[in-house]
Parts: sequence; structure tokens; C-alpha cells
Amino acid sequence: MRTPLIAGNWKMNGSSELVEAFGRGFSEASLSEALEVVVFPPFPYLEAAQRCFSGTPLKLGAQTLNPLHSGARTGEVSGRMLREFGVAYALVGHSERRQLYRESDEDVYDRLLAALSVDMAPVLCVGETLEERDAGRTMEVVLRQVGYAMARLEPEQRARVIIAYEPVWAIGTGRTATPQQAQEVMAGIREYQAGFDRDLASGLRLLYGGSMNADNAAELLAQPDIDGGLVGGASLKVDDFLAICQSA
Ligand code: PGA
Repeated sequence: MRTPLIAGNWKMNGSSELVEAFGRGFSEASLSEALEVVVFPPFPYLEAAQRCFSGTPLKLGAQTLNPLHSGARTGEVSGRMLREFGVAYALVGHSERRQLYRESDEDVYDRLLAALSVDMAPVLCVGETLEERDAGRTMEVVLRQVGYAMARLEPEQRARVIIAYEPVWAIGTGRTATPQQAQEVMAGIREYQAGFDRDLASGLRLLYGGSMNADNAAELLAQPDIDGGLVGGASLKVDDFLAICQSA
């Protein structure tokens, strides 16, 4: 009953050619009707992506957004602007934003609210570092990140949030979490939410991210609490990303 979702986070990669190749590749693809596929290209490609993806199953997402609608924030982009290009999803709290741009749980929450305020579905990214995992703190860290944002939302807002569990040590390293490791944490996230609201927890969409590729996707996606994937490196090749979508 939860619609599977495959999301491709291009990060600071891609080109106009890649946007066009995705448009072509996905216009001919036969994918399950019941699958949502979202690509998160860098901002300069949004307009071309909106054009090239029309008539394909591909939807558009933003890799970040500023909490404000407009104002003196040099270099930033607002949710309201992104909506003009058909952007319907926004990543918030990606570990690269948390680490490289010092985004705190509070910053992540502000961005999540901004996305909701313009009717975008936020994809809240959470995950532990290797050090935290080795210290046995995985669930504590992940539930703090989830709880910080979710606990303060209205139930109606909470129902629109998608959560991506991305162990930091698995991102871009080629070292994927085992299906069992991912399932364990993701079941823990769902169980935690169920403590507040059982219906919400059973409808909550949980994505796994961290070195997901065409070879390991099927096994990860077969886990009962994994409803989709947030794919980085393997979302930069049409064939690889298509293969992941086909295994969902
Ligand atoms: P990766 O990135 O698939 O390249 O590990 C995932 C992500 O950062 O969202």
C-alpha cells in the first residue's frame, strides 16, 4: 500500500546532455505504474529537465532550498522559485549538507517546513557516521534526527514527509549497508513513529540510500520496511538508474 519511490540525487554532477539522455531513456521505458521516480538535478538544469521529462514518468526534486521565500540571501534558492519549475520534492538534511555546510537539526527542520509550505514533499535524510555505528549509537543518532523534525510537525504535515536512511559510511564509498543492517534501522524508524501514530507509521515511506546500484537494489528493496531508494552515483547513468527502477 506504500507507493515505492526511486530518487536519483545527482549532487553537483550532470550536464544538459545528461538531462536530455534521461528524457529520451525514460520516454521509452516500461515501468510499473505504481512506481514514483524522481530526479534531483542541480538547479541550472531544472528548466531543461522540466521540458525533457514531460511525457516521461520522471518527476523533479530539489537538492536543497532556503527556508525563506525571498530576500537578501545571496546564492540561495527558495521553494517558491523551485515550484515554478515543477519541483515537487526536496531533499533536506543530506549528510553532505549537514557536514560540509554545517546544517544543524534546526536548519534541517526549517528547510523541511519551507518545503511543506510550498506543497513539496520533503525527503528527510538521516544516518549515522561509522564512528557512531562502531560506538553502538546508530539508533540513538538516527532517531534524534528523525524525532527532531517529526515531533514538532502537525499530523497532517508529518504524513507528507518521506524519510531516507543513509548511513554516512555507505554514501559514495561503494560500501553498501547489508539488507539486514538497513532493514533493522528502518524498522526501528517505523516503530518509533508508531509510538506516536500507528496509521502514520504504516504509511510512512522509507528510502534506503548509500551505494545502491543495479546489482544490490533488488535485495535491499525486497526488505519489508524499505519502500525505495535514494541513489547517488548510480543515478548518473540512464541504464543503471533505469535498472534500479525496474527492480523496485
Ligand atoms: P551514493 O549516494 O548512492 O553515491 O552512495 C547516495 C546519496 O548521497 O544520496
